[in-house]
Amino acid sequence: MANVLVTGGAGYIGAHACKALAQAGYTPVVFDNLSTGHRAAVKFGPLVVGDLMERAAIDAALAEYQPIAVMHFAALSQVGESMQDPARYWRENVMGALNLIEAALAAGIDKFIFSSTCATYGDQDGVVLDETTEQRPINAYGGSKLAIEQMLRDFAPKGLNHVIFRYFNVAGADPEAEVGEAHDPETHLVPLILQAVAGTRGALTIFGTDYDTPDGTCIRDYVHVSDLVEAHVAGLEWLIAGKSSEVFCPGTGAGFSVREVVAAAASVTNGPVPMQEGPRRAGDAVRLVCGSDKARTRLGWTPDRSTMPQMLRDAHRWHGSDGF
Ligand code: UDP
Repeated sequence: MANVLVTGGAGYIGAHACKALAQAGYTPVVFDNLSTGHRAAVKFGPLVVGDLMERAAIDAALAEYQPIAVMHFAALSQVGESMQDPARYWRENVMGALNLIEAALAAGIDKFIFSSTCATYGDQDGVVLDETTEQRPINAYGGSKLAIEQMLRDFAPKGLNHVIFRYFNVAGADPEAEVGEAHDPETHLVPLILQAVAGTRGALTIFGTDYDTPDGTCIRDYVHVSDLVEAHVAGLEWLIAGKSSEVFCPGTGAGFSVREVVAAAASVTNGPVPMQEGPRRAGDAVRLVCGSDKARTRLGWTPDRSTMPQMLRDAHRWHGSDGF
């Protein structure tokens, strides 16, 4: 079975990607510094505890496991934190990616799958986003991811083919609850709602109720994590088939407001969601919804688990389990 190096494979999306890779017949080799990931999330292949800031550690992992491709999930990923400490985001995300790209090329690897973000678009209210939308990030997180996209384009002529995925909002958990979402601190809407319902934290605060949307709250395009990682496996097979470097926006095209997510969660959990209305959160775009079907038409991606009830049911099952 061919090995695939999965940086950040102990994290939320990376761990789900490892399961999808294993199911598709690959061996995921996790490279993770465990700063936010969980050792117990690494269930589908070996774990190398290492840091992307150390080139020698990457070289050693590549020499030992000889992967055919790299999936790069590892990154600092909080918008608010990136505004408070931009240097850390620019240093660790960009330098880490540069080390990884150089190490991959030196090891003769020619396939690279990268987790980017629609935060690279910035705040473009009213624009339905697709792969051709101009990228104008408004925070250091989005800026650092855009820099890595540019880096990949610059390195492509050196022989590193890439597939870039610009994520929308990722939610849900493995339907078999083998892996799930466990951030500390938790900042994401769905787990915060479920923790409020379970009483393991206080009421949810809705960040802003005066936006120019039908119910006044922000609108996002939510994708089931298991669907998202299937796009990555399809991206890997795209490169294995010798196809060109590409960018995909794997969104569903359906937008849900914060209040709609809360109402759906109340229905799925059979409980009221304790909540209060609060002020807007700095840096929030009003509406981020995908307007592209390129991942479906070109990759054959079918995000059929990405209905709001299914995402909430799977997340709820995971949150009711023992976790990691
Ligand atoms: N949100 C909220 N209260 C919270 C956390 C999030 O109202 O405690 C809102 C947030 O303002 C955004 C949406 O929920 O409109 C999704 O936020 P999340 O942090 O999950 O993802 P983001 O869109 O920032 O990537």
